Amino acid sequence: MIVLNYHQLVEDSPSNAWCLTHEAFDAHLALCGDMLISPQTFIDRCTHPNADHNREILLTFDDGFLSDYTHVYNRYVTAGRIPGFMSFIPVDFVGAAGRMNWAMIEEISRGGGVIGSHGMAHADLTTVSDVELDRELKVSKSMLEDRLGKEVPLFAFPYGRFSRRVWDAALRVGYTHLFTIQLGYHRGFEPFLYSRLCLTNSMDTEYMRQHLLDPDTKRGLAWKLSTKLGLYKPLMHRRYR
Ligand SMILES: [Zn+2]
Repeated sequence: MIVLNYHQLVEDSPSNAWCLTHEAFDAHLALCGDMLISPQTFIDRCTHPNADHNREILLTFDDGFLSDYTHVYNRYVTAGRIPGFMSFIPVDFVGAAGRMNWAMIEEISRGGGVIGSHGMAHADLTTVSDVELDRELKVSKSMLEDRLGKEVPLFAFPYGRFSRRVWDAALRVGYTHLFTIQLGYHRGFEPFLYSRLCLTNSMDTEYMRQHLLDPDTKRGLAWKLSTKLGLYKPLMHRRYR
């Protein structure tokens, strides 16, 4: 499976690299065609990995932008044009300007979206104290669970930054699926780490087409060689220790 990661969608004039126009998003959806799967299908598939599923695509959105609700949910999910998406929320941002409020997040959760945590304050978790790390992971999880009335086992690392200390802490408080920003198929070097392609507006439609054909082709020589030699996992453990 392939996991795509978006942030904010706008009508025109993206304000930063991670902000895409509706037009660009539409072009991506056209390329995805009927390969899109729902978050629940993705989660079910994770326990039964199968090469037949390599062409399946999951959409994820980070940072709780208003466009998750106004655009992705209201225009695509409710119309049956996409089979849902994952939305990762930094809890401190809920209700802030340009971000979703609790009512919107709750509606998405009831209506085909799956909500995950993106921490509290969108902190780089590799740099915070143990106390702060625990709060970012645990309080965001319990606040989301209280609001949604269901378990929240999904977490996306803010800025895609993580380390062994961070993932150990996340697993300890009960998250089971941890989403990174790395190239390739969803499977990371640990079974609980899920790679995602983070889309920026400098990636054109051709880049996207190539990525969907084989997300591993964009990975560097170091990955190709170390994977061939069976060294990828130990090397990653050194890098992220
Ligand atoms: Zn983020």
